[in-house]
Amino acid sequence: MCGIANRMGNVNDLGIMRWVARLPISFIFIGVWALTACSSSTPSQHIDRSSARSDYGATASTGNGFVASTPIKSPASLYREANVKKSYIPNGRHARKYKRRLDPKYITIHSTQNFSSGADAWRHAKALNAGKLRAYKRKGGNRIGYLTWHFTVDQSVVVQHLPTNEQGEHADFDGPGNNTSLAIEMCEHRGNSRSATIERTAKLTAWLMYQHKIPLRKVVPHYHWKRKGLSKPHKNCPHYLLDNGRPGAKWQWFLAKVNKHYKSITSGAPTIVSPPTQVAAVPPAVTYAPRKVVSRPIATSKPLVRYHTVSRGDTLYSLSRLYNVSVSMIQQANGLGGTVISTGKRLRIP
Ligand SMILES: [Zn+2]
Repeated sequence: MCGIANRMGNVNDLGIMRWVARLPISFIFIGVWALTACSSSTPSQHIDRSSARSDYGATASTGNGFVASTPIKSPASLYREANVKKSYIPNGRHARKYKRRLDPKYITIHSTQNFSSGADAWRHAKALNAGKLRAYKRKGGNRIGYLTWHFTVDQSVVVQHLPTNEQGEHADFDGPGNNTSLAIEMCEHRGNSRSATIERTAKLTAWLMYQHKIPLRKVVPHYHWKRKGLSKPHKNCPHYLLDNGRPGAKWQWFLAKVNKHYKSITSGAPTIVSPPTQVAAVPPAVTYAPRKVVSRPIATSKPLVRYHTVSRGDTLYSLSRLYNVSVSMIQQANGLGGTVISTGKRLRIP
């Protein structure tokens, strides 16, 4: 969840994962993730099989200028293609000690920003089920002391962690993102195919739209949800489906994929009415206001100085994710030559 803005406010979603923190530092990949463009920036072409709504299964011409057609596959077969496996966090334990009812109105897409080796969907399930993904519970921030979300997707499987009628803790604290949306995290560990993960996510998203009657315009990136109280309220998540940190062509490309799958099981466009000549329809979605250019005022007061007392399990890497600063910045601020930090030490966070 990426989005997890709790005390970690500006922290990367899974950045605070203690299980990651416990990994030997050599296992932790701190490389700069190449912000490569998606494998293809061309919206996948699809035949616009119906330019108007039709009843599920309708096959006859309506005589109104369009031909309603039979869906090319059933919702059940799309669900099977997505390959969803359930591994719920144990009922009543860890994050599920807290039950908050969800009536899903939105679907929120995240990416884990967890680049460590083997951080696939099952690995995230294991961490969630063991209560290892802790967050800082505070008023106005994380409400339950844990990070949770509904689905994690990697190149080969979707693992479901929560029933779809329970809220997760992934987007915006007590905001509408957590209160109204289903959350999907896309894995980005080394060796995982990004394009296969995106494709599987698009299938899952389309199936969830169908199941919960959620329109395409309510499929949103984590970016959509404003995290109150943070200097950067709109998170750059999922970063590889955003352009310069905000929804643009790549996000539209992703929505077109989702729409293609949705139409394959419904034969009716969820939100668009396209002229028959239009081949690759880019569906309308939430529109985002142009980025405001804000000139930075000259700082007149001292910058905020933060400190962190090292507790068991902390690593420079986990702290860097927690405070959204680099490992080397923490090293420099504290005169550290290496990566070893001892429990109880008070570190200055730049
Ligand atoms: Zn996120």
